[in-house]
Amino acid sequence: MVYVSNAGQPIILPLWVLMAALIITGLVVKLLFDILTDNRKAMLSYVKELEQTNQDLEQYAYVASHDLQEPLHSMQSLVTLIELEFSDKLGPMGNKYLSHISAVSKRMSNLISNLLTYSRIGHSEEIQTVDLAGILDKVNEDLSELLKTTGATIERKTGLPVIKGFPTALGQLFQNLITNAIKFQSGDNKPIIQISAEMQSGFWLIKFKDNGIGIPREYQSQIFIIFKRLHTSSKFPGTGVGLANCKKIVELHHGSIWVESEDGKGSEFCFTLLAE
Ligand code: ADP
Repeated sequence: MVYVSNAGQPIILPLWVLMAALIITGLVVKLLFDILTDNRKAMLSYVKELEQTNQDLEQYAYVASHDLQEPLHSMQSLVTLIELEFSDKLGPMGNKYLSHISAVSKRMSNLISNLLTYSRIGHSEEIQTVDLAGILDKVNEDLSELLKTTGATIERKTGLPVIKGFPTALGQLFQNLITNAIKFQSGDNKPIIQISAEMQSGFWLIKFKDNGIGIPREYQSQIFIIFKRLHTSSKFPGTGVGLANCKKIVELHHGSIWVESEDGKGSEFCFTLLAE
């Protein structure tokens, strides 16, 4: 091969230099390819391990919550029996403690059944074509009484897409977000929920915007953790599983969920769902 030097003299590279350059380039390409393949293999094996751990945890939560219900039901029946047969012998303090045990065990039963529901999300139905507009119609219908009594309105700012997904779980996701938007209001403010969808890089970005109490920035990532609540039950009733369920449902559809909000200025719950 002939090159021209600065002085205008031709430079002839010997063949062995060319061969060596080719071999070195080949080796570097192979090395890079091996590194990438190894990284890909390692990543796939981590993903597999993570999926297995998640499945094990779900199974554990299911078995634990399922098995815990049984002794709890026996305890509740015993409390009812004691109340019926010995109430007059227990005196005021005895009766007070008994009703306290009853309330605590009901609360525990509630928590356990919520955990059970959480661990079963996505297990009880087949993936199918789902029209999200139809899902919203159904949720609207189911909540018609609540919408009427609170004076809440749901505004559809855009159409909603058709995706591949789990219809019951998606209905639960919509219902949780709407009931929260209605619940977390101050005074007798009339709830307004605006819903919109837009396509973004292969995903549908769906937003539920409300005019409620808002969420301070420092708590915005914590509210998706199961049983995490920001208020006492006397102020706003609830169990703290709604948004954990929402997160699990969204992740089941390969998406993510987050909230954009300012304290006192309403909240916008945003989530993505894999487009068809
Ligand atoms: P719960 O409604 O039973 O309290 P969630 O898991 O649905 O449980 O919500 C967790 C917390 O997130 C709530 O206790 C509340 O503090 C906050 N939150 C959820 N949705 C809203 C909303 N639309 N506006 C303001 N705060 C909200």
